[in-house]
Amino acid sequence: MSLLVVGSVAFDALETPFGKVARALGGAATYCSVAASFFTGVNLVGVVGDDFTEKDASIFRGRHIDLTGLERARGKTFFWAGRYTDNLNDRVTLATELNVFATFNPKLPPAYRHSPYIFLANIDPKLQRSVLSQVSRRPKLVALDTMNYWIERTPAELRETLRHTQVLMINDAETRQLSSQHNLLRAAKHIFKLGPRTLVIKRGEHGAMMVHDNSVFSVPGYPLEEVHDPTGAGDSFAGGFMGCLASAGSTSDAALRRAIVYGSVMGSFTVERFGLDRLRTLTRREITARARHFRRLTQFRL
Ligand code: AMP
Repeated sequence: MSLLVVGSVAFDALETPFGKVARALGGAATYCSVAASFFTGVNLVGVVGDDFTEKDASIFRGRHIDLTGLERARGKTFFWAGRYTDNLNDRVTLATELNVFATFNPKLPPAYRHSPYIFLANIDPKLQRSVLSQVSRRPKLVALDTMNYWIERTPAELRETLRHTQVLMINDAETRQLSSQHNLLRAAKHIFKLGPRTLVIKRGEHGAMMVHDNSVFSVPGYPLEEVHDPTGAGDSFAGGFMGCLASAGSTSDAALRRAIVYGSVMGSFTVERFGLDRLRTLTRREITARARHFRRLTQFRL
Protein backbone atom coordinates (compact mmCIF):
# COMPACT_ATOMS: atom_id res chain seq x y z
CA MET A 1 0.00 0.00 0.00
CA SER A 2 1.23 3.48 -0.74
CA LEU A 3 2.51 5.99 1.77
CA LEU A 4 1.75 9.71 1.70
CA VAL A 5 4.57 11.89 3.05
CA VAL A 6 4.10 15.60 3.75
CA GLY A 7 6.89 17.89 4.91
CA SER A 8 9.94 19.94 4.05
CA VAL A 9 12.15 19.56 1.01
CA ALA A 10 15.18 21.71 1.74
CA PHE A 11 18.69 22.78 1.08
CA ASP A 12 20.83 22.29 4.16
CA ALA A 13 24.18 23.75 5.16
CA LEU A 14 25.79 21.17 7.42
CA GLU A 15 28.78 21.33 9.71
CA THR A 16 30.07 18.39 11.72
CA PRO A 17 33.52 17.52 13.11
CA PHE A 18 34.01 15.53 9.87
CA GLY A 19 33.40 18.30 7.39
CA LYS A 20 31.23 21.03 6.00
CA VAL A 21 28.72 21.18 3.14
CA ALA A 22 27.25 24.51 1.99
CA ARG A 23 24.28 23.19 0.02
CA ALA A 24 23.10 19.64 0.45
CA LEU A 25 19.67 18.45 -0.53
CA GLY A 26 17.73 17.71 2.65
CA GLY A 27 14.40 18.25 4.32
CA ALA A 28 12.34 15.91 6.44
CA ALA A 29 10.09 14.78 3.57
CA THR A 30 13.10 14.07 1.36
CA TYR A 31 14.82 11.79 3.87
CA CYS A 32 11.55 10.10 4.77
CA SER A 33 10.46 9.51 1.15
CA VAL A 34 13.80 8.16 -0.02
CA ALA A 35 14.04 5.82 3.00
CA ALA A 36 10.43 4.64 2.62
CA SER A 37 10.81 4.03 -1.12
CA PHE A 38 12.96 0.96 -0.37
CA PHE A 39 9.78 -0.63 1.02
CA THR A 40 6.75 0.86 -0.73
CA GLY A 41 5.49 3.46 -3.22
CA VAL A 42 5.58 7.00 -1.88
CA ASN A 43 3.45 10.04 -2.75
CA LEU A 44 5.35 13.17 -1.78
CA VAL A 45 3.68 16.47 -0.90
CA GLY A 46 5.91 19.50 -0.41
CA VAL A 47 7.14 22.67 -2.06
CA VAL A 48 10.39 23.75 -3.69
CA GLY A 49 11.52 27.05 -5.20
CA ASP A 50 12.83 27.89 -8.65
CA ASP A 51 16.39 27.20 -7.45
CA PHE A 52 15.52 23.48 -7.24
CA THR A 53 17.07 21.89 -10.32
CA GLU A 54 16.53 18.69 -12.26
CA LYS A 55 19.79 17.46 -10.75
CA ASP A 56 18.39 18.04 -7.24
CA ALA A 57 15.26 16.07 -8.19
CA SER A 58 17.37 13.17 -9.42
CA ILE A 59 17.44 11.67 -5.90
CA PHE A 60 13.74 10.82 -6.39
CA ARG A 61 14.05 9.37 -9.87
CA GLY A 62 14.30 5.65 -10.41
CA ARG A 63 12.60 5.09 -7.05
CA HIS A 64 8.92 4.56 -6.36
CA ILE A 65 8.32 8.22 -5.48
CA ASP A 66 5.51 10.14 -7.15
CA LEU A 67 6.19 13.88 -7.42
CA THR A 68 2.79 15.10 -8.62
CA GLY A 69 2.33 16.62 -5.16
CA LEU A 70 5.68 18.43 -5.12
CA GLU A 71 4.71 22.00 -5.85
CA ARG A 72 7.10 24.42 -7.55
CA ALA A 73 6.71 27.98 -6.32
CA ARG A 74 8.47 31.22 -7.22
CA GLY A 75 11.25 32.02 -4.78
CA LYS A 76 13.88 30.08 -2.89
CA THR A 77 13.61 26.60 -1.46
CA PHE A 78 13.45 26.20 2.34
CA PHE A 79 16.96 26.53 3.80
CA TRP A 80 18.27 25.16 7.07
CA ALA A 81 21.77 25.39 8.52
CA GLY A 82 22.97 23.33 11.44
CA ARG A 83 26.19 22.59 13.29
CA TYR A 84 27.09 19.55 15.38
CA THR A 85 29.85 19.72 17.94
CA ASP A 86 32.14 16.87 19.05
CA ASN A 87 29.18 15.28 20.73
CA LEU A 88 27.19 14.46 17.62
CA ASN A 89 23.98 14.28 19.64
CA ASP A 90 23.82 18.05 20.17
CA ARG A 91 23.07 20.31 17.28
CA VAL A 92 22.69 24.03 16.98
CA THR A 93 20.39 25.51 14.36
CA LEU A 94 22.29 28.35 12.71
CA ALA A 95 19.62 29.43 10.24
CA THR A 96 16.07 28.59 9.23
CA GLU A 97 14.88 30.43 6.13
CA LEU A 98 11.33 29.42 5.31
CA ASN A 99 11.33 30.98 1.82
CA VAL A 100 8.63 29.24 -0.31
CA PHE A 101 7.61 27.26 2.77
CA ALA A 102 6.27 30.44 4.43
CA THR A 103 3.18 30.46 2.21
CA PHE A 104 2.97 26.70 1.66
CA ASN A 105 -0.55 25.37 1.66
CA PRO A 106 -0.40 21.64 0.94
CA LYS A 107 -2.82 20.46 -1.73
CA LEU A 108 -3.37 16.76 -2.22
CA PRO A 109 -3.62 15.65 -5.84
CA PRO A 110 -6.84 13.62 -6.29
CA ALA A 111 -4.90 10.35 -6.58
CA TYR A 112 -3.43 10.88 -3.09
CA ARG A 113 -6.78 11.33 -1.32
CA HIS A 114 -7.26 7.66 -0.54
CA SER A 115 -3.83 7.20 1.04
CA PRO A 116 -4.04 4.46 3.68
CA TYR A 117 -0.72 5.35 5.36
CA ILE A 118 0.23 8.95 6.07
CA PHE A 119 3.35 10.48 7.57
CA LEU A 120 3.09 14.12 8.62
CA ALA A 121 6.68 15.30 9.01
CA ASN A 122 7.56 18.16 11.29
CA ILE A 123 5.65 21.20 10.01
CA ASP A 124 3.03 23.59 11.38
CA PRO A 125 0.33 21.42 13.01
CA LYS A 126 -2.30 23.50 11.21
CA LEU A 127 -0.84 22.40 7.86
CA GLN A 128 -0.65 18.81 9.07
CA ARG A 129 -4.36 18.97 9.86
CA SER A 130 -5.19 20.58 6.55
CA VAL A 131 -3.65 17.54 4.83
CA LEU A 132 -5.80 15.19 6.90
CA SER A 133 -8.92 17.19 6.06
CA GLN A 134 -8.29 16.54 2.34
CA VAL A 135 -8.13 12.77 2.75
CA SER A 136 -11.46 11.35 1.64
CA ARG A 137 -11.25 7.87 3.12
CA ARG A 138 -10.31 7.19 6.74
CA PRO A 139 -6.59 6.27 6.65
CA LYS A 140 -5.33 3.07 8.22
CA LEU A 141 -2.55 4.86 10.05
CA VAL A 142 -1.49 8.47 10.53
CA ALA A 143 1.90 9.14 12.10
CA LEU A 144 3.16 12.56 13.09
CA ASP A 145 6.47 14.17 13.97
CA THR A 146 6.76 17.54 15.67
CA MET A 147 9.32 19.63 17.57
CA ASN A 148 9.77 21.93 20.57
CA TYR A 149 8.89 24.99 18.45
CA TRP A 150 5.29 23.78 17.87
CA ILE A 151 4.95 22.28 21.36
CA GLU A 152 5.77 25.70 22.84
CA ARG A 153 4.17 28.08 20.35
CA THR A 154 1.05 26.36 19.08
CA PRO A 155 0.05 23.87 21.80
CA ALA A 156 -3.69 24.09 21.07
CA GLU A 157 -3.21 23.48 17.32
CA LEU A 158 -0.90 20.58 18.04
CA ARG A 159 -3.38 18.98 20.43
CA GLU A 160 -6.15 19.28 17.88
CA THR A 161 -3.97 17.57 15.24
CA LEU A 162 -2.91 14.85 17.69
CA ARG A 163 -6.58 13.90 18.12
CA HIS A 164 -6.48 12.59 14.54
CA THR A 165 -3.13 10.79 14.87
CA GLN A 166 -2.43 7.17 15.78
CA VAL A 167 1.37 7.24 16.05
CA LEU A 168 3.45 10.04 17.51
CA MET A 169 7.17 9.88 16.66
CA ILE A 170 9.30 12.31 18.66
CA ASN A 171 12.55 12.35 20.64
CA ASP A 172 12.82 11.95 24.41
CA ALA A 173 13.16 15.69 25.15
CA GLU A 174 10.02 16.43 23.11
CA THR A 175 8.17 13.58 24.85
CA ARG A 176 8.98 15.09 28.24
CA GLN A 177 8.10 18.59 27.11
CA LEU A 178 4.77 17.62 25.57
CA SER A 179 3.65 15.55 28.57
CA SER A 180 5.30 17.53 31.39
CA GLN A 181 6.43 14.12 32.69
CA HIS A 182 10.04 13.10 33.09
CA ASN A 183 9.39 9.37 33.18
CA LEU A 184 8.86 8.16 29.62
CA LEU A 185 6.26 5.50 30.50
CA ARG A 186 4.20 8.03 32.40
CA ALA A 187 4.71 10.44 29.54
CA ALA A 188 3.32 7.83 27.14
CA LYS A 189 0.18 7.42 29.27
CA HIS A 190 -0.32 11.15 29.17
CA ILE A 191 0.18 11.27 25.40
CA PHE A 192 -2.32 8.45 24.84
CA LYS A 193 -4.99 10.72 26.37
CA LEU A 194 -4.29 13.22 23.58
CA GLY A 195 -5.13 10.80 20.75
CA PRO A 196 -2.18 8.61 19.66
CA ARG A 197 -2.23 4.96 20.71
CA THR A 198 1.40 4.35 19.86
CA LEU A 199 4.34 6.48 20.95
CA VAL A 200 7.69 6.02 19.23
CA ILE A 201 10.52 7.75 21.06
CA LYS A 202 13.64 8.34 18.96
CA ARG A 203 16.72 8.38 21.16
CA GLY A 204 19.54 9.01 18.72
CA GLU A 205 22.56 6.80 19.36
CA HIS A 206 20.62 5.16 22.22
CA GLY A 207 18.09 3.62 19.86
CA ALA A 208 14.33 3.78 19.95
CA MET A 209 11.50 2.82 22.24
CA MET A 210 7.89 2.13 21.36
CA VAL A 211 5.05 2.20 23.86
CA HIS A 212 1.84 0.71 22.57
CA ASP A 213 -1.19 -0.36 24.61
CA ASN A 214 0.46 -2.08 27.56
CA SER A 215 3.57 -3.23 25.75
CA VAL A 216 7.00 -1.67 25.47
CA PHE A 217 9.48 -2.52 22.74
CA SER A 218 12.98 -1.19 22.70
CA VAL A 219 15.91 -1.45 20.29
CA PRO A 220 19.47 -0.24 20.81
CA GLY A 221 21.18 2.21 18.51
CA TYR A 222 23.03 0.27 15.82
CA PRO A 223 26.72 0.25 16.83
CA LEU A 224 28.61 2.25 14.20
CA GLU A 225 32.29 3.04 14.18
CA GLU A 226 31.82 6.10 12.03
CA VAL A 227 29.03 8.63 12.26
CA HIS A 228 29.60 11.55 9.93
CA ASP A 229 26.36 13.51 9.97
CA PRO A 230 23.26 12.80 12.10
CA THR A 231 21.02 15.04 9.94
CA GLY A 232 17.92 13.25 8.73
CA ALA A 233 18.31 10.24 11.02
CA GLY A 234 14.88 10.79 12.57
CA ASP A 235 13.18 11.26 9.22
CA SER A 236 14.92 8.24 7.69
CA PHE A 237 13.76 6.30 10.74
CA ALA A 238 10.21 7.48 10.05
CA GLY A 239 10.57 6.46 6.39
CA GLY A 240 11.76 2.96 7.25
CA PHE A 241 9.08 2.60 9.92
CA MET A 242 6.16 3.80 7.78
CA GLY A 243 7.43 2.16 4.58
CA CYS A 244 7.68 -1.16 6.35
CA LEU A 245 4.14 -0.90 7.78
CA ALA A 246 2.67 0.20 4.45
CA SER A 247 4.32 -2.65 2.58
CA ALA A 248 3.02 -5.16 5.14
CA GLY A 249 -0.44 -3.53 5.07
CA SER A 250 -0.66 -4.21 8.77
CA THR A 251 -0.51 -2.33 12.05
CA SER A 252 -0.38 -5.38 14.32
CA ASP A 253 2.01 -5.46 17.27
CA ALA A 254 4.37 -7.76 15.32
CA ALA A 255 4.32 -5.41 12.30
CA LEU A 256 5.00 -2.39 14.52
CA ARG A 257 7.98 -4.12 16.14
CA ARG A 258 9.46 -5.05 12.77
CA ALA A 259 8.89 -1.48 11.60
CA ILE A 260 10.86 -0.14 14.57
CA VAL A 261 13.81 -2.32 13.54
CA TYR A 262 13.66 -1.22 9.88
CA GLY A 263 13.30 2.40 11.01
CA SER A 264 16.45 2.01 13.09
CA VAL A 265 18.23 0.36 10.16
CA MET A 266 17.42 3.29 7.84
CA GLY A 267 18.43 5.91 10.43
CA SER A 268 21.72 4.12 11.02
CA PHE A 269 22.59 4.13 7.31
CA THR A 270 21.81 7.83 6.88
CA VAL A 271 24.26 8.98 9.57
CA GLU A 272 27.19 7.14 7.98
CA ARG A 273 27.67 9.87 5.35
CA PHE A 274 26.76 13.50 4.80
CA GLY A 275 23.21 14.42 3.85
CA LEU A 276 21.56 11.86 1.59
CA ASP A 277 24.84 10.42 0.32
CA ARG A 278 24.48 7.04 2.00
CA LEU A 279 20.87 6.55 0.97
CA ARG A 280 21.82 7.32 -2.65
CA THR A 281 23.91 4.16 -2.93
CA LEU A 282 22.08 1.95 -0.44
CA THR A 283 20.70 -1.39 -1.61
CA ARG A 284 17.86 -3.56 -0.39
CA ARG A 285 20.36 -6.33 0.26
CA GLU A 286 22.33 -4.11 2.68
CA ILE A 287 19.10 -3.20 4.48
CA THR A 288 18.16 -6.85 4.98
CA ALA A 289 21.66 -7.72 6.18
CA ARG A 290 21.60 -4.97 8.78
CA ALA A 291 18.11 -5.95 9.98
CA ARG A 292 19.43 -9.49 10.51
CA HIS A 293 22.37 -8.09 12.40
CA PHE A 294 19.93 -6.17 14.62
CA ARG A 295 18.24 -9.44 15.49
CA ARG A 296 21.56 -11.02 16.44
CA LEU A 297 22.47 -7.97 18.49
CA THR A 298 19.50 -8.36 20.77
CA GLN A 299 19.09 -12.15 20.92
CA PHE A 300 19.90 -13.99 24.12
CA ARG A 301 18.97 -17.11 26.05
CA LEU A 302 17.46 -17.20 29.49
P1 AMP B 1 16.24 15.39 11.47
O1 AMP B 1 17.73 15.42 11.58
O2 AMP B 1 15.68 14.03 11.21
O3 AMP B 1 15.56 16.10 12.60
O4 AMP B 1 15.84 16.24 10.16
C1 AMP B 1 16.65 17.22 9.61
C2 AMP B 1 15.97 17.82 8.39
O5 AMP B 1 14.85 18.60 8.81
C3 AMP B 1 16.91 18.76 7.65
O6 AMP B 1 17.20 18.23 6.38
C4 AMP B 1 16.17 20.10 7.56
O7 AMP B 1 16.10 20.60 6.25
C5 AMP B 1 14.78 19.82 8.08
N1 AMP B 1 14.31 20.87 9.00
C6 AMP B 1 15.04 21.53 9.94
N2 AMP B 1 14.27 22.44 10.60
C7 AMP B 1 13.02 22.34 10.07
C8 AMP B 1 11.76 23.00 10.32
N3 AMP B 1 11.65 23.95 11.23
N4 AMP B 1 10.69 22.61 9.59
C9 AMP B 1 10.79 21.65 8.67
N5 AMP B 1 11.94 20.99 8.37
C10 AMP B 1 13.04 21.32 9.07
